[in-house]
Amino acid sequence: MDLGLTGKRALVTGGSRGIGRAAVLALAREGVHVVAGHRQHSEAAAGLERDLKALGGNHRLVAADLSTPEGAAELVAAAGETLGGIDIIVNNAGAMSQVPYAQLEQGEWDRLIFTNLTAVHLIVQHALPLLGEGAAIVNIGSGLAMVGMPGRAHYTASKAGLVGLSRSLAKELGRKGVRVNVIAPGIIETDLAGHLDPAARARYESLAALGRLGRPEDIANAVLFFAGSLSGFVSGATLPADGGI
Ligand code: NDP
Repeated sequence: MDLGLTGKRALVTGGSRGIGRAAVLALAREGVHVVAGHRQHSEAAAGLERDLKALGGNHRLVAADLSTPEGAAELVAAAGETLGGIDIIVNNAGAMSQVPYAQLEQGEWDRLIFTNLTAVHLIVQHALPLLGEGAAIVNIGSGLAMVGMPGRAHYTASKAGLVGLSRSLAKELGRKGVRVNVIAPGIIETDLAGHLDPAARARYESLAALGRLGRPEDIANAVLFFAGSLSGFVSGATLPADGGI
């Protein structure tokens, strides 16, 4: 099926591992030229670089720390320089931690709000002059933001904020043909969820109607839907991709 993605240009944050890596590769397989952001050089980033080279296309990995304002500016500038414009932004990079609310320090609150929410705002704002006609912005939120969880006040606040940001941007940018949507994953098997002990894992599996945790490719498929023409009349939406929790 033609998703209308061939030759498009994408910026994907947090592309070196997990959901972001799966999204980068899925887009590249559809003929999209991708600039993938990551925080620091690593074996994972080198592996992605090799995989992208094998697929062909104009791809580039860019290390930029999105917990700082400079990181967002550098990443968008690199994408503009490499791609000449941007048709798809996948705001996927995210940080997470579990801290009882009474012990939550201001620095940790600030780090998560900045990385998960402020950086998304900065990336989109910097990218506005580069956005092509019919551009798609796909923001990776979290199912936890809908229900809350002890120890995750900072994380869920950042992800719930992302939904509000996305809805307003959908309305403000819609007349320019720009669509903005959110994917709200359940528990996905990545490094971020890798700390699960067997009991917690079994509990999350039994919570999902489909009886399993998600795979990065499950979310990458939703990214393809929102990035491509199949979702041409969908904007401001939040799609749960959680196996039916
Ligand atoms: P991973 O921990 O597997 O990967 C995180 C990615 O984000 C890496 O590429 C990492 O780069 C990058 N990153 C993290 N912090 C920064 C930073 N400060 N600056 C730049 N890049 C950064 O995460 P997941 O794939 O699991 O999660 C991706 C998104 O999905 C996140 O937004 C997360 O909140 C969301 N999500 C995940 C769920 C899950 O169960 N896994 C559930 C719901 C939502 P590097 O390799 O250099 O560290």
